[in-house]
Amino acid sequence: MSRTLGKVANQLLGVRYFIHCSTTGYSFSPLFNSDGEAWRVYNDDDAKALARAVPATSKVVSVAAVTLAYGKKFSGADDVMRGPVLGLVTEDRLLSPISENDDGYSLLFVDDVLHISQTMPGGYDGEYDAPICTGGRKPSESARLVDLGEYLDRPLSLCPHCVAKVTANE
Ligand SMILES: [Zn+2]
Repeated sequence: MSRTLGKVANQLLGVRYFIHCSTTGYSFSPLFNSDGEAWRVYNDDDAKALARAVPATSKVVSVAAVTLAYGKKFSGADDVMRGPVLGLVTEDRLLSPISENDDGYSLLFVDDVLHISQTMPGGYDGEYDAPICTGGRKPSESARLVDLGEYLDRPLSLCPHCVAKVTANE
């Protein structure tokens, strides 16, 4: 088991840290204010302790820059294993991308409502993006993917059903 440090950053949250398992390629989603605190909780107990130490209470979703370190801390520019890539976070959880092989969630405007979306297999082009609140149903022709970069450091006004879905875990 090889564990490394990850961080998320935007101007709304500042910097928060998470622990990533480079053996499985998956990240633990709880976000800590300090990397030292994240390692202390992880080393004292186990991965489940991370979620207990930071209860998932936030319903505020924002776009953040997500970066993985090679080692147990960020010490310079050359120790970045992946990123920064843009993803979605709450104030206490990494929502996406949660694995190294995953592009994570996108944002999709459908009829003037901004939804969190996922790429689904099927359709004319072999895949399409659908709001997560509709159970993967193909959206109307007017749906428009939004670059996450447009919303970095800006408050997001999202479909409440999508927010309920991504914050309902645990
Ligand atoms: Zn929605």
